[in-house]
Amino acid sequence: NSDEYPATLNTDLVYYSDLEKTLKTSLHTEITRFKSLTGEPLQALLDYLDVLITSFPSRGNVKEYLMDLYTTLKTRKTWSGSEIYELVNNLETEHAPVYTTNNLEYIRCKGSQTKFRGYTCGLWTLFHTLTVNAAQKLDTTDGPKVLKAMHGYVKNFFGCTDCAMHFQAMAARNRIFDVKENDKAVLWLWIAHNEVNLRLAGDVTEDPVHPKIQFPSVSRCPECRLARGAWNLPAVYQYLQNVYGADNIQMMRRT
Ligand code: FAD
Repeated sequence: NSDEYPATLNTDLVYYSDLEKTLKTSLHTEITRFKSLTGEPLQALLDYLDVLITSFPSRGNVKEYLMDLYTTLKTRKTWSGSEIYELVNNLETEHAPVYTTNNLEYIRCKGSQTKFRGYTCGLWTLFHTLTVNAAQKLDTTDGPKVLKAMHGYVKNFFGCTDCAMHFQAMAARNRIFDVKENDKAVLWLWIAHNEVNLRLAGDVTEDPVHPKIQFPSVSRCPECRLARGAWNLPAVYQYLQNVYGADNIQMMRRT
């Protein structure tokens, strides 16, 4: 397959087009599924938009668009899914161009077959990007806010309901709401994701070309591991900054 990455290419790299494709699916498809949105789910949507406004590595007019969406949604206590759908589309037109590409395919998150990877990979990528970029802000509550927003998003909107149930159980077990610092939020999500990777390794949902590993791989980050496989947390933290930090988000596919 000529579309595959050359073996030497770093498949950990994050591409902006994957982030915006994920964002677009979440705003067009997931948040609009409700018949009526009010109370906790509406607050969860506002929290999600709030962390996107603060920590998404915005290009084009996406920030203005998200701010307008947030402000408009805040003006009412109840919205129907179809009203939100209309609002999302109208604001997208008003702020065009919101997205930098109409790329139909994921790059980092492309599966070896269409049934693998894609949006769920995009959602992990998006939330890692948000925790890492929140950690670069002065406000020390930004990182914990991303975790709270992710919890609310997954609980209320994530189309994979099994995933949502597992995630909520894990979040309670790992005390997501006790995280108080930005760097701890980055590492909380990294640990949580590795826990999911461990559970899903060898599962039928695993793309054989992209096996579930304890991230990052030894070859990508040898300094991330200490003797007997223990993690070197400062090195892991640095690696996550290198991969998900706004300055390192790739605008173009490398060939
Ligand atoms: P993903 O696990 O989606 O990871 C995407 C990319 O992130 C990887 O390619 C890698 O570059 C990077 N990465 C991997 N691990 C880490 C880490 N620890 N820290 C930082 N970056 C990392 N599927 C189920 O079948 N059952 C479930 O219960 C389930 N729960 C989920 C809960 C959530 C919140 C989400 C977002 C998804 C869940 N999924 C679940 C889907 C599953 O986790 C994968 O997204 C899917 O199998 C596709 O896997 P992938 O190979 O694209 O890698």
